[in-house]
Amino acid sequence: MAEEKEKSEGKLLEEKLFWKFPHIGKMAPEQIEEAADFCEGYKVFLNEGKTERECVLTAVRMLEKAGYRPFERGKQYQPGDKVYQVNRHKSILATTFGQEPLDKGVRINGAHIDSPRLDLKPCPLYEKNEIAFFKTHYYGGIRKYQWGTVPLALHGVAVKKDGTTISLCIGEEPGDPVFCISDLLPHLAAKQNERKLAEGLKGEELNIIVGSLPFQDEAVKEPVKLMTMKLLYEKYGLTEADFFRAEIEMVPAQKAVDVGLDRSMVGAYGQDDRVCAYTALMAELETLHPKYTTVTILTDKEEIGSEGNTGMNSAYLKHYMEDLAEISGVSVRDVFRNGLCLSSDVNAAFDPTFSEVFEANNASYVNKGCVLTKYTGARGKSGANDASAETMARVIAAMEGDHVYWQAGELGAVDQGGGGTIAKYVAQLDVDVVDLGVPVLSMHAPFEMVSKLDVYNTYKAFKAFYKI
Ligand code: MN
Ligand code: MN
Repeated sequence: MAEEKEKSEGKLLEEKLFWKFPHIGKMAPEQIEEAADFCEGYKVFLNEGKTERECVLTAVRMLEKAGYRPFERGKQYQPGDKVYQVNRHKSILATTFGQEPLDKGVRINGAHIDSPRLDLKPCPLYEKNEIAFFKTHYYGGIRKYQWGTVPLALHGVAVKKDGTTISLCIGEEPGDPVFCISDLLPHLAAKQNERKLAEGLKGEELNIIVGSLPFQDEAVKEPVKLMTMKLLYEKYGLTEADFFRAEIEMVPAQKAVDVGLDRSMVGAYGQDDRVCAYTALMAELETLHPKYTTVTILTDKEEIGSEGNTGMNSAYLKHYMEDLAEISGVSVRDVFRNGLCLSSDVNAAFDPTFSEVFEANNASYVNKGCVLTKYTGARGKSGANDASAETMARVIAAMEGDHVYWQAGELGAVDQGGGGTIAKYVAQLDVDVVDLGVPVLSMHAPFEMVSKLDVYNTYKAFKAFYKI
């Protein structure tokens, strides 16, 4: 080509030796429509699952529809068989049996389905100056000031005295009321404005307005609280004592929407990490005859450090793998030792408005694909998994073999902060693991943003991973 001839020696050498991750919209514009189509299903998933329990229910529905059946311990399975196992309503494992024996290794893909939110305290309902409120205790790392004046929906379950469990959901259906935390008007905020941002709203100020009309009876001391409780009783049969046997979560009522005139992004609550949960689940569903057995994990409690028996720092994955190893007559140690895992979680996308907390050469960018994160952690990689060069090479080869757009990225500049994922808990099991996920803008805010092209390429990466 004539153009090629005009290139200088240095220009050609630069092309050969340098590397820059491209904008997918420039390199593969045909993907824009494919990604938009893929994200229609993603938005539905986001709206159906705003808590880990709801995500598990949605996942079970999708898995059952695709032919997955509950895993039966001791049963013999054939390559191509598909099973799932739910852990205490809050996390779920799905498997497609591979052609290779289990002790040759497994392909594990773990994402989390819990997101930062406001949990009701065990004794939440109170009345003050004739307004009824819920007291909350925040879950996960939130910037508290972001949660005031945002319409909130109520989600959760309560176990009644007779043992029956009821599901609660208010604020999601058209015409439903929502709930809200108040904040000061600027006219009276001079003193509050002097607070540090982290204390813009304090933990004990995250009080949610739930009612303001009284029960008509002069003899009642807290008539607005009584009215609120009466309405909950009429709707769900709840009494105040039932709150002690409940898990009630307040989450943004906003539905998933397109962002931008070009509709290039999805804006929604809880995309960390349901964006990886959805893409992982779709890849699992569409994997029919893998070489190696797949284990797709949608886990709970990542946002509070993977604690509890539904988090990855418990033995539930190990026990599931032991059950799989047992029916295959192999040692679970070999299954782990030869295993390869993606810890699929989001990373912070470079934000031009706050560029100073990023290091531009090692940040992830929207529209450049899924981000492979060698290590997370804080300070000197403290708390990180730090994947090996060999593990990086295997995952990169899988992605490049399937023409997946991916990028490398760190979580912010050195010493700006940090974070962790489930990777280190999988590594504890003697498994090779690395973080891979979608770059997110405004992570952990009530409304997070991701690029549709990145979502689509993450799904493609997960599909490629289950092929190798
Ligand atoms: Mn996450
Ligand atoms: Mn998170």
